[in-house]
This record gives sequence, C-alpha cells and structure tokens, in this order.
Amino acid sequence: MNNKNILISGAGIAGTALAFWLKKYGFNPTIIEIAPKLREGGYAIDFMGAGYDVALKMGIADELKKVDIDFSKLKLVDKDDREIGSMNYQKVKNLMDGRAMTLLRSGLAKTIYHSLNNEIEIIFDNTIEQIEQDENKVIVNFKNGNSRNFDLVIGADGLHSIVRKLIFGEENKFEKYLGYFTSSYTINNYSIGNNAFSMYNYPYKQVAIYSNNKNQTTTFFIFNSSEKLKYNHHDTEKQKQILRQEFENGGWKCPELLSALDKTNDFYFDSVSQIKMDKWSKGRVTLVGDAGYCPSLLSGKGSTLAMVGAYILAGELKEANGNYQQAFEEYEKQFKPFMEKKQKSAQSFAKSFVPKSYFGIRLRNLAFKLMSISIFSKLFINQFKDNGLKLKNY
Ligand SMILES: Cc1cc2nc3c(=O)[nH]c(=O)nc-3n(C[C@H](O)[C@H](O)[C@H](O)COP(=O)(O)OP(=O)(O)OC[C@H]3O[C@@H](n4cnc5c(N)ncnc54)[C@H](O)[C@@H]3O)c2cc1C
Repeated sequence: MNNKNILISGAGIAGTALAFWLKKYGFNPTIIEIAPKLREGGYAIDFMGAGYDVALKMGIADELKKVDIDFSKLKLVDKDDREIGSMNYQKVKNLMDGRAMTLLRSGLAKTIYHSLNNEIEIIFDNTIEQIEQDENKVIVNFKNGNSRNFDLVIGADGLHSIVRKLIFGEENKFEKYLGYFTSSYTINNYSIGNNAFSMYNYPYKQVAIYSNNKNQTTTFFIFNSSEKLKYNHHDTEKQKQILRQEFENGGWKCPELLSALDKTNDFYFDSVSQIKMDKWSKGRVTLVGDAGYCPSLLSGKGSTLAMVGAYILAGELKEANGNYQQAFEEYEKQFKPFMEKKQKSAQSFAKSFVPKSYFGIRLRNLAFKLMSISIFSKLFINQFKDNGLKLKNY
C-alpha cells in the first residue's frame, strides 16, 4: 500500500468515520482536532438510507440502537403548549422497514469515536496553520509550532474548514447561505416530561425540544435572516446574545430555554449554509463531509452523508492501493453528482422550511396532517432512501 500516512483534520462525524475505514484497510491515519476534547451537542438526526448502510458495514448499528432516541411523535404546539398537529414517527420508521433511527449528533459522534478503540493517534487542542505539498509529500505546520510530513491530508473539519481555506481559498468563494441561522444546546435538570419532540413556530422562527429520561432537554432553534449576520465564529458570547435577541419575545417556553444559556457547555450556533465546489481535491489533499460538500441541515442528511463520503473515499484509496490521484478522482466521480442533487433539493426546501406568516404556518400544519395519510408519507419517505447511490463493497 502506498501513501499510508494520512492526516485528517477534524474529529467530527466525517473525520472519525474516515479514520475507522483507513485503519481497517491498513493505512495509518492521524487526526488533529481543534477542540480540547470530542465535541458534544447538536441536533437530532434522521439516521436512514445510505448512512444506515454504512453503520451496518462498520458494525456499529447495534451500538447506535442503544442511543436511538426513539421518540413517539413530532408534536406541533401553539404558544400555550397545546397540540395543534402531529406526525407519528413510528409509522415513518415502519415505512423504512425498521432501517431507521433518530440519533442526537452527540450520540452518533461518540459511537463512531469509541469504535476507533484508541488505536489511532488523535491530537486534540491543535490545528493546521500551513500546508505545503510537492510530488512526494505534504508538509504540515501546526499551531503549536510542530511540523510533520504526511503522504496525504484530508480536510474533515466542517463548514469552516481550515484545509479548504489553505488549499482552495476563502470560504465565501464556496459558501451558499440559505437564509437561516441555527442553534442547539443541552439543558440539564430540565424536562418537558414526555417522549415527543415538541415543535413551536411563529413567523420566521422555529424552536423544537426533546427531553430524555435523564432529565436533560436538547434544544433546536432556527430563525430566518435575509442578511447573513456578521460575528466571529469563536465568539460564543456574541452568538448567545444574537440568539437571545431573536427569541426572547417569542412566547411559549422560549424565556426559560434561553435562561439556561449561560449554564450550557455544548452550545452550537451557525449559519445554515452549503459548500459548493467544482473539485474536492488538489494534489495530495482532499475534503470530506461538510468541508467539501455541506448539504446543510435542510437536507436532513449532513451527518449521514459525511459518513458515506468517508466510506467511499477510504474504499477508493484501498482499491487504488494508495494511488491518491486515481482514488480521489473515483471518489468525486461516484459521489459528487449525488451530493449535488441532495444540495439542490435542500435549496428548494429552504424557501418553505420556516414559514414566514401565520397563514404559512397553517399550511405547514396541514401538510403534517396529510403526511399521516399513507400515500403522502410514502412520498415523503422516498427522499430519505438515497435511491440513486449504490454503495460498492470494498
Ligand atoms: C458540536 C457540534 C454540534 C453541531 N450541531 C449541529 C446542529 O445543531 N445543526 C446542524 O445543522 N449542524 C450541526 N453541526 C454540524 C453537523 O454535525 C455536520 O453538518 C455534520 O455532522 C457533518 O459532519 P462533519 O464531520 O463534516 O463536520 P462536523 O461534525 O462539523 O465536524 C468537524 C470537526 O472538525 C473540527 N474542526 C473545525 N475546525 C478545525 C480546525 N481548524 N482544525 C481541526 N479541527 C477542526 C470541529 O471541532 C469538529 O469536531 C454540529 C457540529 C458540531 C461539531
């Protein structure tokens, strides 16, 4: 096997899944992660389709089932917390022949991370500052002053990828902002005490919460903003301030959810954006997951397709015996057209995702009712099946 020493930037979903496969195929992956430890938190993920198939191949599907939040229904509520519509989630799962789970991002991230069994080198609290490549190697300089040579470098460092920036250019060349911001965090010692997802809407905004049986509640906020807000990605206090301003007069449970903001330790805040690139690879460097092809949360598929990309990329490197030119080309050929379709359908969904008027909210509630009629639920579920992508066995 050629080109065995591979640096992966980012220990998120894509980075850890990629390390899993590379290690299995006899490569020697190293991960570098900017956070001091594995990052927790994040939204709920519909885990079905090709991502589910990759989890089966990794042998982690049973572990994932243990963290399946398996909620009973998605409940639409009004400002007085009265149920005004619902979707039976168990029915959706049945339509997928049981090959579906609902996972919190943190549950998925931890499970993949643990499947690495401490067998690979992971450097936390550090990041790449400079990358230089020639015909034989990639020279990487790290923030802590160290410098190391690798055969290949793979950016799995999310929407604001440093590898993309250093190799391909500034983020704004590739970002397509979809008109929303999202936030998510966990509240300890607080529960709404049922096994449902409660979702509350008012024009331009949406809040959803779910409580587990450990007296913890996960929050999901999304709001429309026609202009992309300017703030520093590392300035958490500023992001919390924006979230408060957006939702403090929102009614329902918004004030009590926001009052827990200062105590949370897994706060996430970001724009809802996509990354669209002509090529994902340059020389000995390529990208996987959000770093290369972020489809956004509106696709409902960011995390699962990060895993699928990792599976294909590692598999092609194996098949090409480490010949990276051949592998990167095949990875893009197989997966890029599929991702472009997913991005397109998320873009069309963006217009109606959070209704902008009370009339729009009523229409959306009606759509929920229709969804419980079999023919419509089948149509709805088809988009999660990832028809059109055949996973090879490597
Ligand atoms: C804590 C967290 C919470 C999230 N919550 C939501 C959510 O609520 N809604 C939503 O739509 N999306 C959320 N996301 C994004 C979502 O998880 C991804 O879209 C999806 O999982 C794709 O996975 P990925 O591995 O490509 O990227 P991510 O899961 O974003 O992983 C990227 C990893 O790279 C690391 N990283 C970033 N920059 C550097 C750097 N310079 N050097 C080294 N490492 C770096 C990050 O810390 C992270 O661990 C969240 C991501 C994280 C990290």
